Amino acid sequence: LLQMKLIRQITDLNKAIKNFRKIGFVPTMGGLHKGHESLINTSKKKSSKTLVSIFVNPKQFNNFKDYKNYPRKLDNDLKILKKLKVDFVFIPTIKQIYNDNKLSEFKLLKSHKVLCAKYRKGHFEGVLDIINRFIILISPKYIFLGEKDFQQLYLIKKFFEKKYSTKIFSCKTIRNRNKVALSSRNFLLNRDDLKKAGFISQQLIELKSQINKNKDKANYLIKKIKRNLINKYDIKIEYLEARNLTNLGTNIIKKKYKIFIAFYINKVRLIDNF
Ligand code: AMP
Repeated sequence: LLQMKLIRQITDLNKAIKNFRKIGFVPTMGGLHKGHESLINTSKKKSSKTLVSIFVNPKQFNNFKDYKNYPRKLDNDLKILKKLKVDFVFIPTIKQIYNDNKLSEFKLLKSHKVLCAKYRKGHFEGVLDIINRFIILISPKYIFLGEKDFQQLYLIKKFFEKKYSTKIFSCKTIRNRNKVALSSRNFLLNRDDLKKAGFISQQLIELKSQINKNKDKANYLIKKIKRNLINKYDIKIEYLEARNLTNLGTNIIKKKYKIFIAFYINKVRLIDNF
């Protein structure tokens, strides 16, 4: 019987994976849920071995309190990964990963500095840095990422699809029955907050179908619903915008687009797109 291999040291990682050429890699920060499970199951279908990392990457947090409060649930995570029959779990320490003390070599273009990049200074530089380090360590054939973090997916594709032979797969957002996107941060919400998040999702799904019927009215419809949500649910909206999927610009006429939102419920920051 093949057991899941738990790896904490880079030297052990190298030994464990050296004979495998078709590794599917699923990077996570733990606090695993059905969204992660969906990525892992996709990887298991496409790859000969699946490697999941659990690493709460300090460099991608622009706010120390957020880093400190980020849900950490290692015991439960390992149970889930065993149940899914994952081949390798990599749980490095910060020291293992950042032993060279090098700063991120990645710089966003001005056109990238929208949505989360505008509000979380240094966040994506930290994300690109850690993914780059993981790609170098693992040389995965595939990386599996969720559409929930669309801008992350977009930037990782932009920066790494040409640089490496690793192929980047995107996976649909998994939601609960009230349409709330599953997220580790949902562990920080109480039941009422989660219900609120559900109403907000449902309104944004409705907003999208209205905009689909009349794209010229997008800005007006978004303004209206923004006011509505703030009054009704007592949330703080960081951004609520329609952007095209080609370059994340604001021109959505004749282009595929999504509605992007970042908001705070009870000091917990959630993002989603529709
Ligand atoms: P995280 O642990 O939050 O950094 O997420 C790890 C990966 O899981 C990222 O590629 C996320 O986009 C993806 N992910 C997070 N939530 C969901 C979800 N609800 N559905 C699908 N993928 C998700």
